[in-house]
Amino acid sequence: MKKTNLKTNNYRGRFAPSPTGELHFGSLLAAMASYTDAKKNNGLWLLRIDDIDQARVIDQSDLHILNTLEQCGFEWDESVTYQSQCLKHYQLALEQLEHSGLSYACSCSRKQIQAIIEKNHLPPSIYPGTCRNQSIIADNSATRIQVADTPIGFNDLIQGDCSSILSEDSGDFIILRRDKTFSYQLSVVVDDFRSQITHVVRGADLLNSTARQIYLQQQLAYPSPQYAHIPLAVSSDNLKLSKLSQAKKIRCDLKTLTLAADFLGQRPINHHDLESKADFWQYLLNVWDINRVPKMEKQMVLV
Ligand code: GLU
Repeated sequence: MKKTNLKTNNYRGRFAPSPTGELHFGSLLAAMASYTDAKKNNGLWLLRIDDIDQARVIDQSDLHILNTLEQCGFEWDESVTYQSQCLKHYQLALEQLEHSGLSYACSCSRKQIQAIIEKNHLPPSIYPGTCRNQSIIADNSATRIQVADTPIGFNDLIQGDCSSILSEDSGDFIILRRDKTFSYQLSVVVDDFRSQITHVVRGADLLNSTARQIYLQQQLAYPSPQYAHIPLAVSSDNLKLSKLSQAKKIRCDLKTLTLAADFLGQRPINHHDLESKADFWQYLLNVWDINRVPKMEKQMVLV
């Protein structure tokens, strides 16, 4: 349900599900943590549908996600935004990066990159910079941004001090894919800036994207939000719960909500002691303390 909240400070949080399936337990955790932290700080909580990767979008799943959130009792502020409607803003950011001289066209296929890495015994999963100094024609190529070898550090509210040297951790990364779709890293940075997001609370699977996003913010002269990465929920067979691993749609009942709050390390409550979802949210808002959210390695949940 969209809600107008008059009592706010500058805190602007957000939840940004990809419409690639139903809302599962892992995304409920990210929604709950980002929502509760925003509300505890008298902030606003925005919803964005991350549908930049149209090939992965499942028809109607945005509506299913919004419906499930509503049934769980989430109330969002402002209108829901869709990445697919913001393409011109990503294009402007891309041009800004091109003008800075840091981006370049890359015609390498995954197979070619793999072969270069193997032949030269280079670290896996790091782009070796093959096209960096070659004037590739932009058609039929991706666009990468040159990274630096200086560390990018940030203080995560849950994971603590984090640091990454992009030249060692990712190499020059893609901002425009070969099929001319904007990359997740670029679109998310532009979206968070345009929505003036001050706090990004999301799953720890995105922890290692954060330095790349901060790097883009620096190049685009955007401020960086405060980050907080919540632990991942894994199933009993140790698989990350995601839509890709066929995670189940959640039930919007008090049992599920209290299980999620418990997973997030908050003072436990028996769901039998709650009468309604409104009761649950009141309880969670009262007890919410982001310092109680555990780091990722410690948590496992059976779902
Ligand atoms: N859309 C991303 C996902 O569903 C989350 C993006 C973000 O929170 O930065 O995994």
